[in-house]
Amino acid sequence: MVSGAATRPTPRPTQEVMALSVIGKEEGIVHGTPKGYKQHRYRKVPATEACGCLKAIRDYNAERATDRAPRASVTAHQWNNSGFTGEPGLSRAARVVHPPGDCPEPGCGAKDAPAEPKAPLPRGWVRVQVGGSSEPTRVYCSGGCAAVGVALAELRMAPA
Ligand SMILES: [Zn+2]
Ligand SMILES: [Zn+2]
Repeated sequence: MVSGAATRPTPRPTQEVMALSVIGKEEGIVHGTPKGYKQHRYRKVPATEACGCLKAIRDYNAERATDRAPRASVTAHQWNNSGFTGEPGLSRAARVVHPPGDCPEPGCGAKDAPAEPKAPLPRGWVRVQVGGSSEPTRVYCSGGCAAVGVALAELRMAPA
């Protein structure tokens, strides 16, 4: 017969038990952090501006949004016809529509000068070189633009 007591592991406060016991309780919430915001949600305790959790989650989401490089959907066609390739006149003649990833900043996405040692970049600019890519080293006006450049260079790996 089943006695139960012999096989049951030593009782310990499992995570579920602890979590269930905090529903509705504010005590223990790490206010002013994204974690605190999640605790609010889980515990069904409203987060407020006063406790800092609303601001924390806004900052957290804004940071993640920039990390994701939202402008990474430039196509090869846009790339080749937007002046990125450095062909004179093309960027002037093209209609001024800026699809995602097409930056109006002059020189953004241009091939890096071949000179060695490398000239210092303007403030905030980024030099992108992906090892093994058939794309040359290029310079970008910002981290966001550079992320697009990295993605493109990764798509154009030279045959191994
Ligand atoms: Zn809070
Ligand atoms: Zn740019």
